[in-house]
Amino acid sequence: MSNPPDLLELLSGVVLSAVAAAVGYRRASLNASGVIGAMITGTILFGIGGWEWGLLLLVFFFSSSFLSHYREKDKVGLAEKFSKGNRRDLAQALANAGVASVLALASLFWNRQVLYLGCVGAMAAVNADTWATELGVLSQRAPRLITNGRPVTVGTSGGITALGMAATLGGAGLIGLVAALAAAIGGQEAGIVVGAVVVALIGGLTGALLDSLLGATVQAIYWCDRCKKETEQQVHRCGTPTRKIRGRNWMNNDVVNFLASLLGALIALGIGANLG
Ligand SMILES: [Zn+2]
Repeated sequence: MSNPPDLLELLSGVVLSAVAAAVGYRRASLNASGVIGAMITGTILFGIGGWEWGLLLLVFFFSSSFLSHYREKDKVGLAEKFSKGNRRDLAQALANAGVASVLALASLFWNRQVLYLGCVGAMAAVNADTWATELGVLSQRAPRLITNGRPVTVGTSGGITALGMAATLGGAGLIGLVAALAAAIGGQEAGIVVGAVVVALIGGLTGALLDSLLGATVQAIYWCDRCKKETEQQVHRCGTPTRKIRGRNWMNNDVVNFLASLLGALIALGIGANLG
């Protein structure tokens, strides 16, 4: 089927993503450049992909910003009141929703159903990873490094816990459920509806595992002197600038998230192409 972009859909895409971005800015989940990133990706996903695509971005956006504020005090201790390093910027927005947006653009020319499953895989991967990060740090048990199984301190990149794995499946599963519901409401055939859950779980899990693997090996990792904690950010969530302790400069958190969502999308596209 061909998919000419509809002016009304594009327009509602702009409005919807502007509203979501404004809420994100007010809730301190986005900075000014993050608002631009949310508007670009939101407009493409809603306006060119359609509401089923844009909905996945909203689920990711609101569930991850809710979880990043969830038990914030337990995550940063007393430094919480100085918190200002937690807003998403343009690079983060593109790292999280860039792959899904490119797939939405591709849907103008190629099989829309299969590409939608790719979008599900991409968003499941970033959602799974965000959930794992935000909830995994609350684990009472020491994480183990994904590469060699050694116990590491909570918050160490590449460390995995049972709680983090459960959060990974939860984050991927939520994207899968919403995508399946949207596909069913949109009148898609059963294969696409069931496929959405399957690609979300598999794409989300492999994307999150790649994220942990890169975090344990080549990702640039920093140290916050104030909180005495390892972090993936150059400015810690407490607002303190951090210093690099290992990894490659260019392999930052945004590149890692982008690669995880790319892997999630490719796996989902592979599965989707065999469904359709
Ligand atoms: Zn800190």
